[in-house]
Parts: sequence; C-alpha cells; structure tokens
Amino acid sequence: MSFETYMRQANLIAGEWVGADSGKTIDVTNPATGDVIGTVPACGTAETERAIAAAHGAYADYAATSLMDRVGLLWKLHDALMDNQKSLAELLTIEMGKPLAEAMGEIAIGAQYVRWFAEEARRAKGEIVPAGVNGRRILVTKHPVGVVGMITPWNFPSSMLARKIAPALAVGCTVVAKPATATPYSGLAWGALAQEAGYPAGVVNVLTGSARAIGGAIMDSPVVRKVTFTGSTEVGKELIRQSADTVKKVSMELGGNAPFLVFDDADIDAAVQGAMVSKFRNAGQTCVCANRIYVQAGIHDAFVAKLVEATEAMKVGNGLEPGVEQGPMIDMDAVEKVEEFIADATSQGGTIATGGARHGNGGTYFTPTVVTGATQSMKFATEEIFGPLAPVFKFDTEEEAIAMANATEYGLACYAYTRDLARTFRLNTALQYGMIGVNSGLITTVEAPFGGVKESGLGKEGGSQGLEDYMDTKYVCIDGV
Ligand code: ADP
Repeated sequence: MSFETYMRQANLIAGEWVGADSGKTIDVTNPATGDVIGTVPACGTAETERAIAAAHGAYADYAATSLMDRVGLLWKLHDALMDNQKSLAELLTIEMGKPLAEAMGEIAIGAQYVRWFAEEARRAKGEIVPAGVNGRRILVTKHPVGVVGMITPWNFPSSMLARKIAPALAVGCTVVAKPATATPYSGLAWGALAQEAGYPAGVVNVLTGSARAIGGAIMDSPVVRKVTFTGSTEVGKELIRQSADTVKKVSMELGGNAPFLVFDDADIDAAVQGAMVSKFRNAGQTCVCANRIYVQAGIHDAFVAKLVEATEAMKVGNGLEPGVEQGPMIDMDAVEKVEEFIADATSQGGTIATGGARHGNGGTYFTPTVVTGATQSMKFATEEIFGPLAPVFKFDTEEEAIAMANATEYGLACYAYTRDLARTFRLNTALQYGMIGVNSGLITTVEAPFGGVKESGLGKEGGSQGLEDYMDTKYVCIDGV
C-alpha cells in the first residue's frame, strides 16, 4: 500500500538505517483501530551520541556548501513531499488518527515551510552599521549555529519537523531529530526524504526511543548548539534547565490555553465557523486550539445554538474514511483527561449542551462536546484541554473579557471576532499572546512568526524570524580603513 513508501522501521544515523544497539523495538499502534502497524528501534544514549557525532562530522562540509546548492536541495525536498503527499498523509493518519484531509493539509504546509525557508535563506542578510568614528567599519554577519537537536510531539508529526528542519538545512546546520514515540513514522520519513533528495550522510539523523535518554544525550552534548522543542510546558521547562550547562540556544513551542472572544458586533456565522475550526481541528489536539470561548451577553444564546448545531453535525470516525471530520484521540489518557474536565465543570454548575461522553465507535473516540455556563474557577479556565471539548463562558464588557483572557500563565494564540477596528487595535495591545486571530480561527501560515509569550515559549517558527533563530550573529570591527 502506498503509505508504506516512506515508512521506515529503522533509525537514520550517519546515513545508515539501523536498529537499536540492544535490538529492542517499540510497537506503534493506529489509534483508530488499536492495531499495531509496525515497530521502531528503542534507541538510547549511545546511538544518540553517534548521531550527534555524525551531525558534527558532516557540519563543516555542509555549512560550506553554496547557498544555491542548499536551496536546490530544499526544492527537491519540497517536490518529494508534494509528489508523495497522499502516501505521506496516509502514513500520518494511520499513526496519528487525524482525518486524511487534515493530514493532506499538514504535508502541504510542511512543503510550504520548506519552500519558504528556501526563499528566505536567500535574504539572510547581514548589515553594515555606521561606525561612530572615522576609519572604522562595522560588519554584522550571519552564520549557522551548528548542530541542532529537535524534539517534536505527536499532534503534528510531520509539519512540526518541517518548520525546524527546513530553516536549519537552509542556513547550513545539521540535524539530530527525535520524533514522538507515538507517531515516529512521519518523522522518520523526513530522514528518507532527505536521503533521497541528496543530503550527505550525517546531515539529517532521526532517532526513536527513550525520550529521557535521547533528550538527555542531546542536552548534555556541547556540540549541539541549539535545541528546538515543541511539546508540553512541563518538558520544555526541564529542557531549558538542562540547556544551561552548555548554554545552548533554545526555541520552545509549549502549551497554550487560547481564549476565543466573540463580541456583540461579530458576524455570528463567521464566529461559529471560526470556533469550530479552531476548537475541533485535530480533535482539539493542537496547542492553538480554542480552549475557552468567551461570548458577549447580547449574542451568547444565538452563538451557542449555532455552535451546538454545528458540533452535532460533525462526522466522527476513522480518519481514512471519506467525510470524517474528527478521528480518535491519541490515547486513553487523553480521553480520561477530557472526561475529568467535563466532570469538574458539571460539578461546578456547567451544563453539557451536547456530547459529554465517549463516542459509540469505542476505543479513544470522543463525542464533540459543548459545555455552557463555564466559569473561571473551572479547571479548563487555567489548564490546556487538548480534546474536543468547547467550554462557553459569558461576559458583559470588553475589559472583563480581556482580564479573563489574560488570566493564565500561557500566551500562545488567542482569537477575537469583532467588526470594530478600534477594538482590534486595543486587543492587539492588551491581549498577552504571541498570536492573535481577528475574525479568523486558523492563523498558522509560513510567512508569519508562530510562537508564544509568557510560559508558552521562546523563539518563533516561520516568517523571517524562523530563520533568524538558526543563525548566530557575528560582528566584525575593521579599523584603519
Ligand atoms: P505531548 O506529549 O503533550 O506532545 P511531551 O512534552 O510529553 O508533549 O512530548 C513532546 C516530545 O518531547 C516527545 O517527542 C517526547 O518524547 C519528548 N519528551 C518527553 N519527555 C522528555 C524529556 N524528559 N526529555 C526530552 N524529551 C522528552
């Protein structure tokens, strides 16, 4: 079957596809069926150290390649992704569960990141800065940081690597990547694609296995000059701590708790559509998913009625089936977490407007749910849901909405539906978030800097900033000229 084209049940280290030293493997299951789809090596410290040594050994030559050679390789990678979009998307759906249409979109946006960074690499300009005294020139130049460690999560197993691998390769860095254990094949596919595109051995290494051992070896290595991580805030904080010993650069895309504000002057239908896509995409398992929907009193009831109707119309099932809009959740822990949020809300007076229970399909399927009467004392007001549960809060004034929206340590994405331009600018200033979607529930795009403030992260992915994060800045002072 076509999903097997880039499915690799081995790790790519120094240009070779290998197993773990111990010979041990880890089963990978399809969350839609519970079936084991294959295994991956259970690698640890020793294999990671070899991968780092390979990336270090390949670095000098790769960093010295011409810009247009690197751009050409990225174009090949882009074309390989798009030529194999369907089989890569099927592999993604089989290991992760998202609907095939969403997986197709993920492969496409990954390819767009590759193309974007191929273009941006040509504009990685330095500066000549006016010197304060005569006879002196000040040059500011950009250089690849070196070997980059990458640790990625299961919810976007392909595109999370795209926006790390592409800028790294664009500027001349080499890579040691560790995809999530639940969804390793889309990550390993990047190794196969890179090899096929013609990247020299050691430039891209991909390992699976113990997060602690692989992550630990990456963090301990003085050769790895940057670590880029997408995942939970808890693990991110641990990696930031570990980075101190070797003073690595870090990019952290951590958790979110996105508020979604709907004001009385909003286009209700557009707001409902935006809320649906923001909340239920990937079964609510994205870090930018609407976590708290705040609706102004004047349109609250009308909004809720339409939101419930749209939620009930969603088709839940195996992501490979046509027309499915929500697949299974990643595992039973995720299901139980959503159940806890619902139990907590109802025990505090919240009402289940629709859903509220596991889906008839069994396994980890969960019925899309709307809870009304949400309050700031409920758990989901401060914690990330990561599931298909939409809590609706009611508010009266803009000030009140802003205060509630900001009452979290997270600061990744937020959303606002309003037709008032002046309010839009007030929100831009007042909302403590790295990204704001105004009249849009879907804001990720290659041209823009994706990233959070507060405890949602450090650094940006995409945009020109997303390339900058893979470069060191040097300054040359030329005197006597
Ligand atoms: P989530 O499972 O919510 O996506 P995690 O932070 O648990 O978030 O996982 C994200 C990635 O980080 C995965 O690849 C996981 O294996 C890895 N990871 C988890 N714990 C550690 C750790 N202690 N050190 C390094 N990587 C880790």
